[in-house]
Amino acid sequence: MEHKPPRITFWSGVGEVTGANFLLEYLDERILVDCGLIQGKNVHKQNWEKFPYDPSSIDYLFITHAHIDHIGRIPFLLRKGFNGEIWSTPQTKELAPHMLRDALYIATEEAHRDGSPVPYEEKDIDEALRLWKTAPYYEVIYFGEWSVLFKDAGHILGSAMPIFSIGGKNIAFTGDLGNSPTPLLRDTDFLENIDYLVMESVYGDRNHEGLDTRRDKLQEIIIRSIERGGTLLIPCFSLERTQILLHELNHLVERNSIPKIPVFLDSPLAIRVTEIYRREGADFNKSVQKEQRHDRDIFDFPNLNLTLSRRDSAEIAATHGPKIIIAGSGMSEGGRVRGHEKAILSDDKNTILFIGYQGIGTLGRRIMDGERQIVIDGTTVGVRANIESILGYSSHKDSDHLIEFVEKALPIKQVFVVMGEPKASLFLVQKLRDELVANAIYPERGKSYLLE
Ligand SMILES: [Zn+2]
Repeated sequence: MEHKPPRITFWSGVGEVTGANFLLEYLDERILVDCGLIQGKNVHKQNWEKFPYDPSSIDYLFITHAHIDHIGRIPFLLRKGFNGEIWSTPQTKELAPHMLRDALYIATEEAHRDGSPVPYEEKDIDEALRLWKTAPYYEVIYFGEWSVLFKDAGHILGSAMPIFSIGGKNIAFTGDLGNSPTPLLRDTDFLENIDYLVMESVYGDRNHEGLDTRRDKLQEIIIRSIERGGTLLIPCFSLERTQILLHELNHLVERNSIPKIPVFLDSPLAIRVTEIYRREGADFNKSVQKEQRHDRDIFDFPNLNLTLSRRDSAEIAATHGPKIIIAGSGMSEGGRVRGHEKAILSDDKNTILFIGYQGIGTLGRRIMDGERQIVIDGTTVGVRANIESILGYSSHKDSDHLIEFVEKALPIKQVFVVMGEPKASLFLVQKLRDELVANAIYPERGKSYLLE
């Protein structure tokens, strides 16, 4: 009997970086890949109103990695009736509850501020963990008519590319692709024998600065900041970026490349995630594993202070002399970094350093783009601090490396370019067509495509 081919629908995470949520259907099975939070301004309704499909009809949910824009709506999916299986690598399952609890805290604060209902509760997170199964990289998981396997995306700890063998087709999802070689992780696996590829394109239209210059640039910025006698504030994502930064600082401090000044890691979530990174050292690349043989803790160095409590956090400002503060959230849309921004941005001896993607409309993006006056939680702040950014610390492949990734996987029947701002995705589509003569498209949100 001739079966209908599988089909895919892009529900969100297309024409935008965040909110990955794709539906794969075959025979009577319904499989979701990622269920992420849409981040940015005025996205409450898109996130928490309802899903465009019936969550109780979904059989499986596959998770590429534990960033909140890939997992943030899982508890809400349960609340709306999902009762299937969740699958990821073990590392992703270990990281996810910390990320989800932190996101719940932020969602609860937002709901109280706007007078809207809190979208889910702690018990929905616990329930998600009960449904959550794991498989290590490269182990094939069989589901009767179809199977799946996780390859290493090299993006963050546990990040995976699920490759579905379904209806005689191999369908791969990149999740986010690591900026290999990265300071900590193994390189992204290359793919082969793929029919359809759903790929990210955050930096589809831009290249990063050379990987080897990023540490020099960090060292320079730190030394300049110390010479000015000011504070260096680094808004930082808690998962991966903070651990990369701690590892870099560890390197600079232990080789005496920068003076020993106080460094504050002011993020309870980042502190907890760093604990998990310490335990999962076997997942690091060869050079880090070698380093671990003579440096027992590659995330710790003299003068590093972990501030868990709000009281300790409040005391940072009273520390005299030059210092470095690492705080979340990474785009300054919440978290302790906002308080520090309020305190330091108006003084030109201070510096704010961006090392990650800043979403359109976020406070971080506005500061990075040079707005001279901003409002933080009701207080107007004139921005006179020095503004720096290092894109080499991005956890995403840049344009040339995205092209290389596709080139090595050719021939591919069709490439769906998603998870990018429209201009980045469209630029990458055009480049894939021009340079590789690949059949690349920018799919339409909510539209289904047959994978024949
Ligand atoms: Zn990610």
